[in-house]
Amino acid sequence: MAFPQAFPAAAAVLPFPGRQAALRLALSPPHLAGTEIEALRATLESGWLAPAGPAPVAFEAALGRTTGFAASLATTSGTAALHLGYRVLGVQPEDEVWAPALTFVATVAPAVQMGAVPRFLDVTPDGWGMDPALLAEELAAAARRGRLPRVVVPVDLYGQCCDLDAIIAACDRWGVPVMCDSAAAMGAQQRGGRHAGRGARLAVFSFNGNKIITAGGGGALASDDPALIARARHLAGQAREAWPHYEHETTGYAYGISSVLAAIGLAQLPALEARVLRRRAIFATYAEALADLPGLGFIAEPAWGRANRWLTVLRVDPAGFGADREHLRRALDAAGVESRPAWKPLHLQPAFRDAPQTGGGVAAALFETGLCLPSGSGMAPADQDRVIQVVRHHARR
Ligand SMILES: *Cc1c(COP(=O)(O)O)cnc(C)c1O
Repeated sequence: MAFPQAFPAAAAVLPFPGRQAALRLALSPPHLAGTEIEALRATLESGWLAPAGPAPVAFEAALGRTTGFAASLATTSGTAALHLGYRVLGVQPEDEVWAPALTFVATVAPAVQMGAVPRFLDVTPDGWGMDPALLAEELAAAARRGRLPRVVVPVDLYGQCCDLDAIIAACDRWGVPVMCDSAAAMGAQQRGGRHAGRGARLAVFSFNGNKIITAGGGGALASDDPALIARARHLAGQAREAWPHYEHETTGYAYGISSVLAAIGLAQLPALEARVLRRRAIFATYAEALADLPGLGFIAEPAWGRANRWLTVLRVDPAGFGADREHLRRALDAAGVESRPAWKPLHLQPAFRDAPQTGGGVAAALFETGLCLPSGSGMAPADQDRVIQVVRHHARR
């Protein structure tokens, strides 16, 4: 069996060149660095295919250098890392777990499966992240009720850092730990140039196929407390005790990343800064090319941080623009362009109909009007022009 010897540009952008998919412009397809095949060959030849051996160790070390966290555990997915985070923070049935209303379901899914009760807090209309002022108020109210959350889980939405310093300050007052869902924020920076998630007790990253850096599936849990990561590592390996036979004081998971995937992630990581710059340039091109159209908006980047602009998200005000988000999405689809509505807020999801909630109007409005545009770092300028032309064509004139 032969591997392709080289990856031409089209293959880097489109997962199945030559097939139907090649005609469609995808939202955020994997972008190969070019060194993956070599890394895979070396891994296969080493004989290490299990979630053990040199590749996961090297990948974790590289993650530490990239993010600045003292300890990292590479996992099978970002969702698995979140699950381990909830376990090591001691989440129990009936505990409350607080998250922003506007996020991907995986932020809270593992906690819900553990019997925890999610509470969804509204986001800010400019940066789309958890609102620290609202959080401070709600924590004070929860303290009066005698039911503080076990953990607060803010999210770096679409690769834009939440106001983590303010969120941690609000939580520190009540001794509540923070786990930052930075799954989409590899390479994003917050105040002082610190990497996304830094400062939180735990941070979670994803290397899923559509993220800015991919391992073909994978994630990581990171912390400045090596004891927490050691505990998570134990659970990720079936909670096997150090005996010759299989001895277990508790049950764990098969969540360690495979060497094969770690090798891909390791090959991808050196390209991170280039990928961030490219996605930021894609955002800037959209923003500039659509600046004169009425009724459009974007996620505002705060002066103190640098988003990785994983996805460019357009806000479409139908009254000003002349067409609504869904109209635009269908028009793009008909032109062979994949776009996607912003996350449907979790407090509006049938799965969480019984969850307590606080506000959520901002998140609901962002869902109604938000549209994620193709943002893959391998996208050709001509393809981005195609997207821009379709959007311009539907604007009021
Ligand atoms: C991608 C993502 C996840 C889940 O990561 P997986 O690796 O796909 O499990 C969780 N939260 C957010 C915000 C994400 O974007």
